[in-house]
Amino acid sequence: MIVSPRARAMRLRVDQRTGEVLLTVPRRASRRKALAWAAGHRDWIEAQLAQVAPPSRLLPGGTLPLYGEPHLIDWDPARPRAIQVDGGRIIAGGPADNLEARILRWLRRHAVDLLAAETREFAGLAGVSVARIGVGDPLSRWGSCSSQGSIRYSWRLILAPDWVRRATVAHEVAHRVHMNHGPDFHALVADLFGADPKPARSWLRLRGPLLHRIGRS
Ligand SMILES: [Zn+2]
Repeated sequence: MIVSPRARAMRLRVDQRTGEVLLTVPRRASRRKALAWAAGHRDWIEAQLAQVAPPSRLLPGGTLPLYGEPHLIDWDPARPRAIQVDGGRIIAGGPADNLEARILRWLRRHAVDLLAAETREFAGLAGVSVARIGVGDPLSRWGSCSSQGSIRYSWRLILAPDWVRRATVAHEVAHRVHMNHGPDFHALVADLFGADPKPARSWLRLRGPLLHRIGRS
């Protein structure tokens, strides 16, 4: 239950990224009444929960999207542990029991390398510096830029198509020039990205929740 000083009415939401049921209540509302109100919406909650995609595990023979393209997890215990990508396959060896954790670690490292290279590319175009580039796994944002000049991304961007990832990088780098979302900022993003970045934002809004289901056990 989220008690919000800003909420004027009770609100129910099912988070499609986590499958959590979120009940927002105004500060002065009675907790007991709020729970009873939520219980009265049980059918609605169940219908929403049924729409949450099941967690997508990273198991031998399964697939995962890399750069937005399905990649088969091709595992053979006889192969070395080091993970490689080739022709739409994630080639992996080593023990099966920690395969998912190893693929996740590899994805994260690969995301840092790719996002850092693209950040430097756009920073060069924009004529700005970037202090630090890192990745994390936040639920609510795909990227953020601090006033000190550090940029952080969700590693899950490498699961999205290249154009979606690059539009996000252009967005964060443009914040090194404009710390707002004004018209000059949007013009610079379009300039750096070389196209209208709106379809990428829509893609993340629509498909992003599914990326958050990947590798969650
Ligand atoms: Zn922004």
